Amino acid sequence: MSSIKAPRGVRDILPGESWKWEHVFSVTRKVAGDFGYREVHLPVFEHTELFSRGVGETTDVVEKEMYTFEDRSGRSLTLRPELSASMVRSYLENRMDKQHQPAKLWSAGPMFRYERPQKGRYRQFWQIDFEAIGSQDPLLDVESIELSLELFRRLGLSNLEVLVNSVGCPACRPVHRKALQDFLRPRLKELCESCRGRFDRNPLRILDCKNPACQAITEDAPSTISCLCDECAAHFDAVRKGLAMIGASFEVDNRLVRGLDYYTKTAYEVLSGELGAQNAVCGGGRYDNLAESIGGPHTPGMGFAAGVERIVLTMEEQGCSFGEPPRCDIFVVHADDSSLDAAVSALYDIRRAGMAGDMDYTGRTLRARFKTAGASGAAFACVLGPEEIASGKVTLKDLRSGEQQAVGRAELVGFLKTVL
Ligand code: ATP
Ligand code: MG
Repeated sequence: MSSIKAPRGVRDILPGESWKWEHVFSVTRKVAGDFGYREVHLPVFEHTELFSRGVGETTDVVEKEMYTFEDRSGRSLTLRPELSASMVRSYLENRMDKQHQPAKLWSAGPMFRYERPQKGRYRQFWQIDFEAIGSQDPLLDVESIELSLELFRRLGLSNLEVLVNSVGCPACRPVHRKALQDFLRPRLKELCESCRGRFDRNPLRILDCKNPACQAITEDAPSTISCLCDECAAHFDAVRKGLAMIGASFEVDNRLVRGLDYYTKTAYEVLSGELGAQNAVCGGGRYDNLAESIGGPHTPGMGFAAGVERIVLTMEEQGCSFGEPPRCDIFVVHADDSSLDAAVSALYDIRRAGMAGDMDYTGRTLRARFKTAGASGAAFACVLGPEEIASGKVTLKDLRSGEQQAVGRAELVGFLKTVL
């Protein structure tokens, strides 16, 4: 074993697991198409400013969790901690506002956050991200929430809790902020150190604190919903009605505020009981001011991000199907050295015909080669020895039943196609 190990909090996704991820991505791709979202690939690093301004200076992500570095010419760059800011940056930079609105886009890839690693929480983790940019229609909020639920349904997840809230807009947030500060002021000393720091800078964050003492204190705190302006209240009503109309089950959670500053109006999360403390499989909401905060024109948007590791963990805990792992169809076995060339040539005929074939590369005995064939999970072993070569045939052994039959070498590929 090498003395160099992977950095703390990052994981290798090995073949025993990567095929499960492939299933999650192929289901995601299909759902994306069904809902009219198109895929984009975004850069893994961006200007630090994009996140400090977009996500918000006073968020945990920006204050404590970013991987920020200077490149060789002294620019400050950051490994992306999330995708919404990058997606909006890309929308603006590529003038997608000139195309049909909203732009419905999705992307998947690794995110980076300097957090304490534990089950379901890593420093490099994958997100599937959907964003609809350029419309403030509440039906888009409904679509986005339902898209995430449909994705989870198709993956076979059950027992999910869907929490929805409205966090208001710049018109109503100051009203709530003041009400919240008035409520908390008498008990300020009892809050944890970070929450005391948040009291002036970003009191809304206090509702999001995981500390039980802080949670108890904020139990009866004024909710964002109680302070919504008319427009936000009407929007929230329309979202709730839309979700109810299509039969999506959800609960309103007055405490839900989410960790990123850019959310306006709708905020939502999907939780799984299977994950322990890291129970959010997906989170999202509306971010009508994100584009402006990164220097663009006012551009409303709505989206969500789901964590791939947490989806896979929940699917495993719930015994969901990942489909079939990829396996070899035909394992080619040469009987002796003199038949190696014939075996290799049969193997490439099989592969060129689009079937999965393999052979043993360890140069061991015939017996060992048969063992590898069995372990490969292949349906058939295709055996070539001097006798087969002399008669222009191969011996096909059905590795499950043990039955053998001779097939003409020229007919091999056609025959295999009929039996696989
Ligand atoms: P949490 O409250 O668990 O820290 P979050 O609110 O910070 O989550 P978001 O920024 O909303 O998370 O990201 C969306 C999703 O990405 C989360 O619901 C979760 O599934 C996943 N996620 C976030 N951080 C991590 C992480 N460090 N490791 C693995 N998955 C993560
Ligand atoms: Mg977090």
